[in-house]
Amino acid sequence: MSYSECHGHIFMDGHVFREAMELHRSGVVREVIDERLGLLREAGVTYYRDGGDKLGASLYARSRAPEYGIEYRTCAFGTHKRHQYGGLVGLPFDTASDFRGLVALAKEQKADFIKLMISGIMDFQSFGGLMGGGLELAEIPELIKIAHGEGFRVMAHVNGAARIKTALEAGLDSVEHGYFMDDECLTLLQETGAVWVPTLAATAGFAGRPGFTQGVAEANLRHACENIRKAKGLGVLIAAGSDAGAVNVPPDRGIHIEHTLLAAAGLEPEDVAKGDEAIRRRFVYGG
Ligand SMILES: [Zn+2]
Repeated sequence: MSYSECHGHIFMDGHVFREAMELHRSGVVREVIDERLGLLREAGVTYYRDGGDKLGASLYARSRAPEYGIEYRTCAFGTHKRHQYGGLVGLPFDTASDFRGLVALAKEQKADFIKLMISGIMDFQSFGGLMGGGLELAEIPELIKIAHGEGFRVMAHVNGAARIKTALEAGLDSVEHGYFMDDECLTLLQETGAVWVPTLAATAGFAGRPGFTQGVAEANLRHACENIRKAKGLGVLIAAGSDAGAVNVPPDRGIHIEHTLLAAAGLEPEDVAKGDEAIRRRFVYGG
């Protein structure tokens, strides 16, 4: 069986973000990335879409991936509003004009698409809870338009119904995570043909973790799985991406976990294959 990992971060090791960043801080440790690519090949991964880092790890991985039989696509780095969530995987901007500068930099680095952090992350303290801020609703359309205008597809980290709706109405290409959607979000996914990558494995990785309220990861996951069932009924495209390398998500076999969770949520392998195919086809420069 071959797998598409539609959302991973090659620089992360499945344990602690900060240690992974520290490791590559004064230059990408090539042996580590090569070893990881080898493990991905053994795990049957033939496609990897990297959600970015600011260390150059994904760019190095892309240069090496053909040797491992992996089609590798990356945004090079994520982009986020300064002082809002996203510093771990990307570069900050203050204004739309700064964002335009980052898009130009991405183009220089031959990024395949743009990654935009639109919202914060789940806080795992209470059901539906988010932290880390995010973009104002009014800022979202212009940024997506800028990236599209430069020939890029946009992969967005986004949770929470209001931001997801605004982003989809503005033509967002893929919703990453996409927690706490309402029915209107699901209808918009269907109408726009955007792809949803629910990264269930990353959420499951928080179940039972000390320091977080017990049962919240499970409740958030149950809500996402209900939405997956509804989305399947509407014909929404859903792709498999584990957020490989995030805490408790193995960098190589995270995608196996994601497939198990998507199947438990009611998706057939052919449903997932359709979503994966849309990601593979669209997330190329000018695609
Ligand atoms: Zn990610």
